[in-house]
Amino acid sequence: MNTEEIMVFQRTLKDWGREHCRPFPWRKTDEPYKILLAELMLHRTQASQVTKVYENVLERYPNIQSLANATSVELNDILYPLGLHWRINLIGEMIGIIMKRFGAEIPQDKADLLSLPGVSEYIASSVRCFAWNIAEPVIDTNTVRVIGRLFNIEVKDSSRRNSNFRRLASQLIDSIEPKIYNYALLDLADQVCTKRQIPKCLQCPVAGFCLHYRDGQKEFNMTKAVKVS
Ligand code: SF4
Repeated sequence: MNTEEIMVFQRTLKDWGREHCRPFPWRKTDEPYKILLAELMLHRTQASQVTKVYENVLERYPNIQSLANATSVELNDILYPLGLHWRINLIGEMIGIIMKRFGAEIPQDKADLLSLPGVSEYIASSVRCFAWNIAEPVIDTNTVRVIGRLFNIEVKDSSRRNSNFRRLASQLIDSIEPKIYNYALLDLADQVCTKRQIPKCLQCPVAGFCLHYRDGQKEFNMTKAVKVS
C-alpha cells in the first residue's frame, strides 16, 4: 500500500471500529493502572470471563495504592475465578515493584514496562497505546493473522515475533488515533477476519485493501471462466 492507500485504510478501519468495537469497561478509561490490570487479566483468558472480575477488582481496589495493600489471600479470593492461578502471584509481585521502583506510577517507558513481571511485548504496547495513545502496533496471533491476509503472507506461530510483520504493522498504524485504530484491528480479527471459520470477507470494511481477498476473487473468476468455456 502506498501512503495514500494507508491513510484510506486507516480511516476505513477506524470508522468501522467506531461502530463495531466492543464496549469493554477497560476501553472506557485511559488510566494506566486500569489498563495494565485489564491486560494482565486478559492474558490467555476470554474477555467475557474477565469483565465481572475486572469490575469487582476495581470496585474494591480503585487505585494501585489500594491494590498494593491487599493481602495475598484477598488477591487470591478476588482473582481466583479467572484461572491461571500463577498469575495472581505475578500481579502481586508486579504491584510491589511499581510501588517501590516507580513511586506508584505505571511506567510509560517501554523497557521499564517490559521489566515488570508478567508484562509481555503485547501487554507493554497495549498499555502504551491505550493509556497514552502512543502509536505502537499491538501484535498478537490475531492481529498478525489479519496483517498476513492483508499482504497475503503466510502466517506461522513465530510470525508475531517476525521483524517483517512488525515492520508492516508499524507502517499501517494510525499515528493520530492509534487507540481506536488498534481496538478496531483487534475486533476485526475477532469478528470478521476470524481464525477458525473462513474469514467473512464480504462483511469486511477493508476487503478492498486485502491481497488475500483479491487473489481469492481472481481464482474464483478464473474457475468460473473455465467452467463457462
Ligand atoms: Fe480478512 Fe477477508 Fe478482510 Fe482480508 S478481506 S482482512 S481476509 S476478512
